[in-house]
Amino acid sequence: MFQPVARFAAESLRYSTDLILPAVCVSCATPVTRHNLLCAKCWGDLVPITAPYCDRLGIPLPGYDDSGPHLSAQAFTDPPVFDRARAACVYGGVIRKLIVRFKFEDRHEPLPLFLRLTREAGRDLLADADLIVPVPLHRFRLLQRRFNQSALLAKGLSRASGVPASVMALKRTKRTKAQVGLQHDARRTNVAEAFNVGASGRRAVAGKRVLLVDDVITTGATANACSTALLAAGARAVDILAVALVWHGATNFLDEGGDVL
Ligand SMILES: [Zn+2]
Repeated sequence: MFQPVARFAAESLRYSTDLILPAVCVSCATPVTRHNLLCAKCWGDLVPITAPYCDRLGIPLPGYDDSGPHLSAQAFTDPPVFDRARAACVYGGVIRKLIVRFKFEDRHEPLPLFLRLTREAGRDLLADADLIVPVPLHRFRLLQRRFNQSALLAKGLSRASGVPASVMALKRTKRTKAQVGLQHDARRTNVAEAFNVGASGRRAVAGKRVLLVDDVITTGATANACSTALLAAGARAVDILAVALVWHGATNFLDEGGDVL
């Protein structure tokens, strides 16, 4: 009964906000025609990941024909635990700036843009998914940051797609070091066995094709550790969807020293 009233109030508020606050680019604050978008210059800075890419890892495969599906050498020699990863953009430039803001400064203006990008990049994965699960934060880190940004993404994707989300199914039981500056093997050791699925989570994931949602895929170590926990809890399969993916084939897109975030 209250829902239409609430919706009317929200829409009125949005309308009045539009009148009060002019629409600006969510990255550089240049005036634009609609809220929650990028200006043409910032949009041009994004490096979208489109075919051809690796069907398992989602990394770009320039030089391949786009008939696909293709498998990268990396996926062949070191197969991931999950089935398919997809990310909207290569990590760097404007998307890096927005993710850092979203993640560490609790600024949510980029969320509608992230949802638009991930819905497009994850169209096939969302169509196949039974359940959306965010990569969890440890509760101490959740207290520091107030929000689990991946959970905000998961809820938004759930609302847009109609696929249910379970933000509590997967838990981070070990407080891992920040992944910054860790090399590949160290990242893997750092997150191994850091995740588990509780009794209610087991009921939620049993037999389901789970879509795991994160902001950035770095080496895939976190995605693999989460997938291991979800599969052990009875999930049928796991796919990964992220806003951005670190791709070492793209020079100039990493911070000095190759650190992420
Ligand atoms: Zn801009």
